[in-house]
Amino acid sequence: MSNKDCPDYCSSRALAYGRQTSAIRSLFEYGKQKSREVGCECVYDFSIGNPSVPPPRQVDEAFHCLLEEHDALKLHGYTSAPGDPAVRRAIADQLNRDYGIGCDETNLYLTCGAAAALSSTFRALTLCDQNNEFIVLAPYFPEYPFFVEGHGAHLIVVPPKLPDFGISIEGLEQAITSSTRAVIINSPNNPSGRLYKENELLELADLLSRKAQEYGHPIYIVSDEPYRELVYDGLKTPFIPLLYHNTIVCYSYSKTLSMPGERIGYVLVPPRADHAKDLYDAVAGAARSLGYVCAPSLIQRVVGLCTDVKPDLAQYDKNRTALYDGLSNAGYRCIKPEGAFYLFVEAPGGDAQAFSDFARLNYNLLIVPSESFGCPGYLRISYCVSHERIVSSLPLFEECLKAYRGR
Ligand code: PLP
Repeated sequence: MSNKDCPDYCSSRALAYGRQTSAIRSLFEYGKQKSREVGCECVYDFSIGNPSVPPPRQVDEAFHCLLEEHDALKLHGYTSAPGDPAVRRAIADQLNRDYGIGCDETNLYLTCGAAAALSSTFRALTLCDQNNEFIVLAPYFPEYPFFVEGHGAHLIVVPPKLPDFGISIEGLEQAITSSTRAVIINSPNNPSGRLYKENELLELADLLSRKAQEYGHPIYIVSDEPYRELVYDGLKTPFIPLLYHNTIVCYSYSKTLSMPGERIGYVLVPPRADHAKDLYDAVAGAARSLGYVCAPSLIQRVVGLCTDVKPDLAQYDKNRTALYDGLSNAGYRCIKPEGAFYLFVEAPGGDAQAFSDFARLNYNLLIVPSESFGCPGYLRISYCVSHERIVSSLPLFEECLKAYRGR
C-alpha cells in the first residue's frame, strides 16, 4: 500500500494484514464452497492442519467429569490472568517428570494456543526504540511474519540446508547481528515434517552462545512446539531448553490432543533462562497488552487433567507412509516426514502456484503452494485426513502429474 493510500482512520498495517489472504485459508474456504457445489467426496482438501484423529478418550472423560461438577464459577469464571495455578502446577509437574527442568507454575503462562503464546513472546522480547530482528529458519509457519512484524520487529529468513531441510549454521552465522533478539525453531516442522536432531541443535546452541557473548546480550531460542509429540519411527523430539538454557517454549495442545478450536497452549520461561523472572513478567505484560489474559477456563481444566495423555499416531503414520510411497512411485520428489502431519513435495516444473492451481482446477486436489512458507518451489500436503481420502487421491495425483507434464 503506497503512502497516499494510507487511511487516516485506521492502522494501515492492520488493514493490510486483514486484507492479505492466507494461501492455506483461501484453499480451505474454496474447498468448503466447492464441496457444497459438487459434494465433499469429490473434493480432496489437503490444505489445513485440522487433526483428523478424534481427541484421546481421556479428553472426553475430562470434559464429562468437569461438567458433572456443576460448579459454574469454577468451570466458566475468570481464572488468574496467567491461568489457573493448579492447572499450571499440573503442567509443570509433567514437564519436570519428562525433562527434569525444575519449573513450577510461576514459569508457565497459559494462552489461546501457540499463536497467542508466540505473539506474546515476540512482543515481550521486542525492545523499545531499537531495531529488533527475529530469525526464522525456512520453511516456516506463514503466520510468523504477522506475529513478529505486528510489533514493529523484523523477521529475517534463513534458507534451509538442503536436501533434507536441516539447520543451516552457516546461514544463521551470517544472519545474526547485534539486533538479533531470538531464533525461532519449529521442530517437528510445519511444513517440512523435519525433526531437528540433538547434534544440529547443539551446534545451534554453540553458535548462539558465541554470538551472545560477542554482542553482550542473550539471544534466545523461541521454540514453537505444537507437534512435539507427533513423531514417528520411535524418534524423540529433543527438548531444547535442556540443550540451550536461553530457550522459551511456546506449546499448544491443538494438534497433540486434536482440539485446535478450543485454543489452549502455554509459554514456558524455564527457570534457568537468563533474566527468567523479568522475561516471564514481560510475557505476562505483553499478553496483557494484547488482551490475552485468562485463557478459556473450561479447557484449561481439561488439559490440567490430561497432561500425560499422548496422541494416537497410528492413523497419521499410516497416512504418511501411504502418501509418501504413493507420490514417490508416481514421480513426485519429497523427503519422508519424521514428524507433524505434512508432506512437503517439490513442485513439478518448479512453479508451486501454477501446479497448485492446475491440481485444484482440474482434479479438485487442494494443496498449498509454498511461497508463504518462505521456501518457494514446494507444495504442502496435509495428511491429517481419513486414510480413505489418501488412498482414493493417489490415482488423481498420478494423473495430475502426467497431465501437467504433458501440457
Ligand atoms: N505454529 C505452528 C508451526 C503451527 O503449525 C500452528 C498451527 O497450525 C501454530 C503455531 C498455531 O497453533 P495454535 O492453533 O495452537 O494457535
